[in-house]
Amino acid sequence: MMVRTRFAPSPTGRLHLGHALAARVAWEWARRAADGVFLLRFEDIDATRVREEFYHGIEEDLEWLGLTWDGEPLRQSGRTAAYEAELAGLRARGLVYPCFCTRREIQEEWSRMAAAPHGPEGPLYPGTCRALTAEKREEMLVAGVPHSWRLDAHEAAALAGPLTFHDLRFGAIAVDPALLGDVVLARKDIGTAYHLAVVVDDAFQQITHVTRGQDLLPSTHVHRLLQELLGLPQPLYLHHPLLLDDEGKRLAKRHDALAIATLREAGMAPAEVLARTDALMRAVSAGGLV
Ligand code: GLU
Repeated sequence: MMVRTRFAPSPTGRLHLGHALAARVAWEWARRAADGVFLLRFEDIDATRVREEFYHGIEEDLEWLGLTWDGEPLRQSGRTAAYEAELAGLRARGLVYPCFCTRREIQEEWSRMAAAPHGPEGPLYPGTCRALTAEKREEMLVAGVPHSWRLDAHEAAALAGPLTFHDLRFGAIAVDPALLGDVVLARKDIGTAYHLAVVVDDAFQQITHVTRGQDLLPSTHVHRLLQELLGLPQPLYLHHPLLLDDEGKRLAKRHDALAIATLREAGMAPAEVLARTDALMRAVSAGGLV
């Protein structure tokens, strides 16, 4: 079976040990296959958070670890036309709607509700703008009121029918289209959003195996639904466990002490750094996966 994997960091900081694990899972998977391909994709749609120096810094970290990629890295910032085209298609089919709510209005709506709907990542969008009439929507769009575009999860689910995705650790998972509610597919400020961009690019780069942290498991429900709506192939998934800090929290960019560059400057060798991901690699491999 053809194996094409990718590591998809955002260039908003240097890599830390958690990224090293994520990159290693994708890299080993590709390298153990006969003609495996391991790609690098910069998820840099949010220009307000991206810093130019981190593209190179991330490449340097990966090269130092020996996790080298094939071909040129893809930058999502150069792919906006593709995301816009897919969004336009969803608009034409009535599967997304403009949302004019500010963050504050959403919070006010939650506090008015007896029980705000909750998902695994917190309260869900209460659906305020889904209820707007077509005339009102048009009027606000014409008036240039700032808006995002949200997936109408209910409509989308009805159209797509029952779906599953396959995870090599967890098996077949039935998609719950309402899990994250009416997610944003195009942000007010940047005109696209993670869920749409990641799905469009996994297809564009012909990724066969999406490896990612298990914190993104809820997102995969949305992605599988989007693949179906957009007529894109479905990859296999491997949601790997996360490296945790001493307090049991997931590593984040604030964990500078565990940045690859810091460990390297402290005199650690690449093999020693990678060894710190061994235990979780074994946990992933236990299922005979990698
Ligand atoms: N860019 C995402 C992250 O930094 C990973 C991409 C994905 O697997 O969706 O967590």
